[in-house]
Amino acid sequence: MVKKSLLAVMILIGALGVLIAVLIVRTLSFGAASSNSDVTLPPVPAFDDMTIASRLTEAIQIRTITVTAGDPRPGQEGPWLEFHDFLERSYPEFHARVSKELVADYTLLYTWPGSDPELAPILLMAHQDVVPVNIGTEGDWDAHPFSGEVKDGYVYGRGTLDDKTSLITLLEAAEALMKDGFTPKRTLIFMFGHDEEVSGSGAQAGVARLKSRGISPDMVLDEGFMIVDPFPLTGKPVGMIGIAEKGYLTIRITSEASGGHSSVPPRNSANVQLAKALVALDETQMPADFSKPPLSDMIAATASDMPFMQRMAFANLWLFEGMVESEFAKSGESNAMIRTTTAPTMLAGSIKENVLPQKATALVNFRVHPNDTVDKVLRHVRKVVSEFDGLSADLYEAGGISSEASPVSATDNRAYKILASVSRDASGGAPVAPALVLGATDSRWTTEIADNVYRFAPSVIDIADLSGAHGTNERIRLDNLSRMARGYAQIMKAMASE
Ligand SMILES: [Zn+2]
Repeated sequence: MVKKSLLAVMILIGALGVLIAVLIVRTLSFGAASSNSDVTLPPVPAFDDMTIASRLTEAIQIRTITVTAGDPRPGQEGPWLEFHDFLERSYPEFHARVSKELVADYTLLYTWPGSDPELAPILLMAHQDVVPVNIGTEGDWDAHPFSGEVKDGYVYGRGTLDDKTSLITLLEAAEALMKDGFTPKRTLIFMFGHDEEVSGSGAQAGVARLKSRGISPDMVLDEGFMIVDPFPLTGKPVGMIGIAEKGYLTIRITSEASGGHSSVPPRNSANVQLAKALVALDETQMPADFSKPPLSDMIAATASDMPFMQRMAFANLWLFEGMVESEFAKSGESNAMIRTTTAPTMLAGSIKENVLPQKATALVNFRVHPNDTVDKVLRHVRKVVSEFDGLSADLYEAGGISSEASPVSATDNRAYKILASVSRDASGGAPVAPALVLGATDSRWTTEIADNVYRFAPSVIDIADLSGAHGTNERIRLDNLSRMARGYAQIMKAMASE
């Protein structure tokens, strides 16, 4: 008896030892050393933060605000026209060298022809419009949201993060390269949409025009990510390059019942059934999947900077996936990275307090992960609500757009390597990780004409400042202005030289 149990204990200890050894070996060998793949970046002119700031200030002061689809309305196009004049005045060399077109009235499309028309062009994007400032919150800002004030080492104002600094520094870069005598081999196209924040119809029309000319860019670069400091998984800076973005759909859930007087309510009225279905949907989230890019690549690229225990968990998802998933699910942002999100937004029932509704409806907004499709989400919702009597689910087309997640762009081509090298140069060598953009950008239209679509700006943003985009105290650190102009100049010169 004693011998037998001793043997069992020894086997157990042996097995544990093997398990621990496997975990440690997998942990230490997990993650890619990405810094070996640097491209040698070309020399570019020097840029000055304060000079760029003076022009950014002026750009912020011009209120190109969009609120609803169709903006700017007739009679309200003043700020867009003023903005175009300001650009022409501020970047004379650029405007003398490029051909300029207006698409959908206010979207700007510029072509800087390359010396070799056989080479596919590159397309650089930003948008002119900004979201409004919520009425009554202007006083919460440290500087007026449309002042463009330079204060405490920052430029303040709506559009400093989203997305006027990209627009301005792209032009600073092009203007400086032109003055420096640079002639691109590859054509450079710049497209600045005028209504990204409401529908993106300008960029959509711009892409249609490029398509009609048979243009298929070798690379598209738009907003979406930057160098984030600190990156939540590592506590250190990480250059995040968006290689995909989520899709979008809204589903209407309808609950039907007999209605009647609220003095004699049945147990399962239309509203109660609808509420049960919403709770069931909340508890039955779409599945997470750590095995595919961008998520798998992002985790591998940042692993070497993670604390040991965290790295061990990611390196051994066969054992720890449940734990990792529930950690990610704790915050809205990280949950959105791993799955299609479920967000009930609008509810409607009876029109009077003492009347039971015959029909109650809920709109539920979903952001589609690249692992899912619009159809898969609809089937999932129908399955969940089929557990409850009187319920049905349909695609809500009146909401406007319903789109699949974008394709996932490659990370093993020259375009990505150049972006990664620029990110490392701009961040003092921080690791670079491919990432999933959680919102929608104008670049979504370009996936029809291009395979290599990236969403990245060479700026270093404190993660706390990110809440300023669409929120209060939107601002950008002054040293990002020369950093971005330099990074864009490097990208243009490296991409367009061959
Ligand atoms: Zn934007």
